[in-house]
Amino acid sequence: MRHMNTFQGSSRGVNDGCPHRAGARRGRWATIGRMAVGEFDLIAKYFARPVRRAVLGGGDDCALLQPTPGMQWAVSTDALVEGRHFLSTVPPDALGHKSLAVNLSDLAACGARPVAFTLSLALPRVDESFLAGFAEGLYALADSHDIELVGGDTTAGPLNIGITVMGEVPPGQALRRGGARPGDELWVSGRLGDARLALEAFRGQVALRGEAFDELRRAMERPQPRVALGLALRGIASAAIDLSDGLVGDLGHVLRASAVGATLRLDDIPHSVHVAACGEAQRRTCLLGGGDDYELLFAAPASAHAQVRDAGARADTPVTCIGTLDAAHGLRVVDARGAPVALTERAFDHFLAA
Ligand code: ADP
Ligand code: MG
Repeated sequence: MRHMNTFQGSSRGVNDGCPHRAGARRGRWATIGRMAVGEFDLIAKYFARPVRRAVLGGGDDCALLQPTPGMQWAVSTDALVEGRHFLSTVPPDALGHKSLAVNLSDLAACGARPVAFTLSLALPRVDESFLAGFAEGLYALADSHDIELVGGDTTAGPLNIGITVMGEVPPGQALRRGGARPGDELWVSGRLGDARLALEAFRGQVALRGEAFDELRRAMERPQPRVALGLALRGIASAAIDLSDGLVGDLGHVLRASAVGATLRLDDIPHSVHVAACGEAQRRTCLLGGGDDYELLFAAPASAHAQVRDAGARADTPVTCIGTLDAAHGLRVVDARGAPVALTERAFDHFLAA
């Protein structure tokens, strides 16, 4: 999944950027006041809520899950690394939320219903106020999507959060990247670019004040996975992907998997007043190259236009048609008059980024 480029975090937050200083040398133990808090105390206190649906949750060598008869498992993993996927300034509850949100977004993109997840945590030290906030944000989102924590792993080390989600989907109904056909319409949920603009504000590359900054920061730190929309699009969308690495890059995955091309109408891409207020170059960067939006990008036959609108309404999620898929390979971006727009944005890549 996406990372946030080369941001060097400030010295605030749970990890001051020197992972060996705080926890690693002391192994899995840390002292809080006069009480030593160990690995198993930590798990018992924060991550051992009773399960309601799983046959067996955390506490044994494996969790046990009973699939609903006739359903398939949809499984996905995303890791979050400090300084790569999040800034050290992120509040712990927002980090708990986002860690699960980016994983739920993958289930959403496949049209799967969330069931269970595991949590692998590497922590530089036992920081109870961090853990309490992290768990609160994590469980709040888990509860709102009826997904439960069934196990995990906890070690000392540089702050690193790995979540694996499991969801269910009827056989043959998972939304995939490869099903788009020439003539299909291209849609996106919500609006794009806010998370990128927030990152630029954190980097000091754009000046934002008060409420505008709070709103954009919320988009970056608390994305809402489009699970309900993914479910509503089963049987309607021909292909789908969630937007983590930027529109151009993620659309490229769909085009390659589906062996089609696309014409994208730049001016139709939904965005906030904050993105609208940017200069043209920055607006394009936010819309075409900005990551971390966690909206769904999907294709559907033009004949299903009304059904897509209806699915959006049922999921209470705005959906916007932003282009068409073509038999001619490649991506063409056009402006409101249909004139071609030169494309400089490319997909984010962890190992190619500067
Ligand atoms: P094992 O050594 O058998 O791999 P562990 O000692 O790592 O098991 O973990 C003990 C139990 O606590 C397991 O059931 C595991 O699933 C659970 N667990 C460990 N870390 C977490 C966590 N971060 N969140 C939820 N459950 C956890
Ligand atoms: Mg074991």
